[in-house]
Amino acid sequence: MTRTALRLLLLAAVLLGLTSCSAPPTAATHRSELLILVSIDGFRWDYLQKYDAPTLRQLAAGGVHARRMTPSFPSKTFPNHYTLVTGLYPQNHGIVSNWFFDPAYGETFGMSKPDSNSQARWWAGGEPVWITAEQQGVRSACFFWPGSETENHGARPSLFRPFEGKMPSNDRVDGLLAWLDLPAGQRPQLCTLYFDLVDHAGHTYGPDAPETATAVQQADAAIARLLAGLAARGLRDKTDLVIVSDHGMSPCGPDRIIFLEDLMDVNTVQVESTGPNGGVRPKPGGPTPAELVAAIRARNVPHLRVFLREEVPARLHYSRGDRIPPVVLMADDGWNIESKTGWPKRAPTYVRGSHGWDPATSNMGALFIAHGPTFRRGHEFADVENIHVYNLLCAALGLQPAPNDGDDRLVREALAR
Ligand code: AMP
Ligand code: ZN
Ligand code: ZN
Repeated sequence: MTRTALRLLLLAAVLLGLTSCSAPPTAATHRSELLILVSIDGFRWDYLQKYDAPTLRQLAAGGVHARRMTPSFPSKTFPNHYTLVTGLYPQNHGIVSNWFFDPAYGETFGMSKPDSNSQARWWAGGEPVWITAEQQGVRSACFFWPGSETENHGARPSLFRPFEGKMPSNDRVDGLLAWLDLPAGQRPQLCTLYFDLVDHAGHTYGPDAPETATAVQQADAAIARLLAGLAARGLRDKTDLVIVSDHGMSPCGPDRIIFLEDLMDVNTVQVESTGPNGGVRPKPGGPTPAELVAAIRARNVPHLRVFLREEVPARLHYSRGDRIPPVVLMADDGWNIESKTGWPKRAPTYVRGSHGWDPATSNMGALFIAHGPTFRRGHEFADVENIHVYNLLCAALGLQPAPNDGDDRLVREALAR
């Protein structure tokens, strides 16, 4: 059965009341003329008040604002950016971390490997909103976003740029604005824009440092530049903005480390992730995953939880698929799991802030603001999971969403009535 046929069947089921209320909402009557999805990587939910962000605060007050958005596990950049644009938990879209091993391919995906970003096979588990858009006749343009550099189900965004981490924020804004100057037939209706300066400062200096405050101010100024550019083009009042982040940031440092070598014989496993959470895969001839978990638990290591993949708490939706390591280690907020290899050299420059911890942790909370003619005005609500953003983007653009893990709660909160 084709995807279109599947979607029509689903739509019919919703109309006939055959599915539960968690089914994706049907295509809305709304039609945003221009929707820009902006991500400010690592912008913790409370930076909005904690630091000087007048533009963002104004947009939040005049539009729709979730006090805190809960990321998906693990609270890392690539899994969460792909969740935001697909509505799927990482276990269901397949980008289960920034770096992960796929036993079926015998290869490691890596966020900074050009091949991983350009090869469709890594990303095929989800349909990002720009593909939903293109397939339904809405032109899309991605000024950076994980997953935007590859073909997906035979389509691509009409415009995209390979990631350039060194490009200054203002140049990213100007690049996107230049796309809006294209002739009507080529101009995009859905855009993404991405900033990473707040995440960088958070890692290097910690979430409470003055350098992070400065980065927040600079990100806010870049948004102000975007608004001014839209105004100069007569687009300010017609544009819908959805401004999000992927996760928050917690203080940490080299004094709060759990070493893998103190938990297991590392020669018997393949270490697939370290940091706020760890993942290991026993080698052939090594212990079984169950034996390894039992042995680690018997050590009663403070600040550490260990799970078989299948036993990861159900609320984290992180148990399905072989890209998730068979043994998952989770450190408490602020603690990191590391290897002793090269540690004395690495310790002095170890990160002062990080993310990846349990999404329920206050510090892992992300940003959500929606502002523009398609959205309500002056509406704040408590907390929303980031799996619901995709359905909102689709509803705002009048698109029929692909099946996903979200429901219509954000659509009901945010869309103008
Ligand atoms: P992390 O803090 O390790 O979860 O990752 C954040 C980093 O991911 C950012 O600082 C960016 O440099 C990098 N990044 C973000 N988007 C992309 C992309 N599309 N391609 C490659 N790297 C990216
Ligand atoms: Zn991030
Ligand atoms: Zn980061």
